[in-house]
Amino acid sequence: MKRNQKNYYGLRTTAVWVVLLACLLGFAFLVKTAIGKTEQTGQETYSSVAPTKGDYQKLSLKKEDIHKGDLILVNAENKYQFSENREIVHVFDEKNSAYSVKDKNVAVAKNTMEALNRLLADFYDEQGNNKINVISGHRTYAFQQTLLDKKTEETGAVEAMKWVALPGASEHHTGLAVDLSIFNREDGSSEPYKGTGQYKWINENAYKYGFIVRYPDEKKEITGIDYEPWHFRYLGLPHSYLVTEKKLCYEEYIDFLRQFEYDKEHLQVSYDGKSYEIYFTGGTDVYVPKSEQYSISGNNVDGFIVTVVKNS
Ligand SMILES: [Zn+2]
Repeated sequence: MKRNQKNYYGLRTTAVWVVLLACLLGFAFLVKTAIGKTEQTGQETYSSVAPTKGDYQKLSLKKEDIHKGDLILVNAENKYQFSENREIVHVFDEKNSAYSVKDKNVAVAKNTMEALNRLLADFYDEQGNNKINVISGHRTYAFQQTLLDKKTEETGAVEAMKWVALPGASEHHTGLAVDLSIFNREDGSSEPYKGTGQYKWINENAYKYGFIVRYPDEKKEITGIDYEPWHFRYLGLPHSYLVTEKKLCYEEYIDFLRQFEYDKEHLQVSYDGKSYEIYFTGGTDVYVPKSEQYSISGNNVDGFIVTVVKNS
């Protein structure tokens, strides 16, 4: 009797183990599937496709055009050439009431102005905060020199070079960069912009409006610039989305795009209901689509980036 009972319990224990093991395997399978899906989503940020040559026509551009356009990389190695005629507008004249501006002189490129208005209006709607103050936009060569001289006087040359770019090496020359600060209109107090608390929303969502956080903390070895949570660079979509989604700094993105040469595979990406095709061309013979909307920008290094909005 005792023996039978023992067997019975033994069987029951085995059955429990079998069920437990099955559950464990099932769980492991679910986890694996979930991870697999995440990886797949990550890979789906973009795909690539070979061009059908008959759909493109050749444009012959000039070598100096490499230094013009919304996607130019500007840093210590690739200085701004001051050869563009980009339309610059005063923030004071064009801004909405969701934020303030330091003075009437702050100016940015027209496309940057429009994106900034949308970003900061949505930030105000989301957080009910109207304390953003735009403190810097477009800068001339002479103004950048003045800033550097002032900082050098305050901190010495070594420290100044860490924070203020040499004239020509600042993105602010393009009109496509803005610096933010915090200004309380009620009591007149101000504080530096750190992109924390309510302001985190701006740093996390800026890419949806065409901006990138240009100098991320984890990329200072590459950018050569310390973390600047207040400095935003306008690139436009879908580039701001790709840079952010792939966790690249702009130097890395410019390198990344070189693999999508016109003659090889073109990058394809969908964002917010629109499909885009992006490719790179070294040299000055640039192929563009015959029947689709596109924009060309130099990269300020060695070639051109073509961005096509696909007909859907
Ligand atoms: Zn800046």
